[in-house]
Amino acid sequence: MTKKVIPLIDSRSFLPPSLPPTLPSILEAPTGLIADELGRPLHDLRISVTDRCNFRCVYCMPRAVFDKDYAFLPHTALLSFEEITRLASLFVAHGVHKIRLTGGEPLLRKHIETLIAMLSALKTPDGKELDLTLTTNGSLLAKKAQALKDAGLKRVTVSLDALDENIFQRMNDADFPVSEVLRGLDVAHQVGLGPIKVNMVVKRGVNDQEILPMARYFKNTPYILRFIEYMDVGASNGWKMDEVVPSAEVAQLIQTELPMQPVAANYLGETAQRWRYADGIGEIGLISSVTQAFCHDCSRARLSTEGKLYTCLFASAGHDLRALLRSECSDQEISSVIGQLWRARDDRYSELRTQNTEGLASPRKKVEMSYIGG
Ligand code: SAM
Ligand code: SF4
Ligand code: SF4
Repeated sequence: MTKKVIPLIDSRSFLPPSLPPTLPSILEAPTGLIADELGRPLHDLRISVTDRCNFRCVYCMPRAVFDKDYAFLPHTALLSFEEITRLASLFVAHGVHKIRLTGGEPLLRKHIETLIAMLSALKTPDGKELDLTLTTNGSLLAKKAQALKDAGLKRVTVSLDALDENIFQRMNDADFPVSEVLRGLDVAHQVGLGPIKVNMVVKRGVNDQEILPMARYFKNTPYILRFIEYMDVGASNGWKMDEVVPSAEVAQLIQTELPMQPVAANYLGETAQRWRYADGIGEIGLISSVTQAFCHDCSRARLSTEGKLYTCLFASAGHDLRALLRSECSDQEISSVIGQLWRARDDRYSELRTQNTEGLASPRKKVEMSYIGG
């Protein structure tokens, strides 16, 4: 009996498209210590729970592309909460100890707190709780923070690109007040969803004049502000290198008014370079994915809304784990596929792009951030 011919969609070179996708012939039990081709462990899993969003950030879902005719995924295509939890448990057995829910806007997914409760019940092989977190644009945070906390979410990261209403709107192309995002931050802090990070993507000529106001505003708050270089993710944002404000420039600008000192990373693989204010009050992070790539210790896997595994934010193809879930595959079989894919991983797009910015950035086919999750 031919039980499984698995439609693993894959255009990666290590599995030529003509090879029929099959399960590994030898099934292995996960050791929790898996490493890829470049020796990088599998520690983080980002799960996109929806490809929809109520914002249209110009760097992520430009309205001209994501318009009223855009075909978002139908509900049946989405992984169910049970499917997400089943996969998450297999990733945890391989060594994942941090799970981030993202999207699209994750708080738009109905009953997200039910999923959070299911994920927060998972334990690492040595019995520890997961670091369970979520990235949100903050628009629904004030309303949902308490339910998220009660369900077991540990903390949140909130995206906020400006304090000035007009500039905020120019970045997110939605009619939404800054004050409501700030209220979301406040409620999240009150209910204990901290430490809370605030992500600001900086796009030259659009919101770079907000760097100092944001630094001043968040300096004496419980929130850690992080400046993110505008990335060439996806194919729809029309990315150009001259719209990137390098982190070094951001640091230099802040230093003119608020002296800072660099701080050591909290852990291996931390994406942000940390800087502490010299007066001892507060710190910021700089995420330099374009000018100082950090692929060498990237331990992140990404699961798309419809259950494809991406081993890099800039991958052009994913591996269809949903097909395995919806076939007769056992946990051990799916786990072996995950192990096989991670071991074969050699992605380091940002490092290659840093070496050849103009050559790589535009022509390559890449998946959209709102689909794969940031
Ligand atoms: N909707 C949620 C939000 O905005 O926080 C979660 C999904 S969003 C794709 C995750 C993160 O990716 C956000 O902090 C967003 O600012 C960031 N992001 C999206 N497109 C980006 C780009 N082109 N360059 C850098 N960061 C980007
Ligand atoms: Fe939506 Fe987040 Fe993308 Fe902005 S960055 S369009 S809020 S998914
Ligand atoms: Fe990781 Fe790919 Fe980003 Fe490099 S480019 S840090 S490998 S996701």
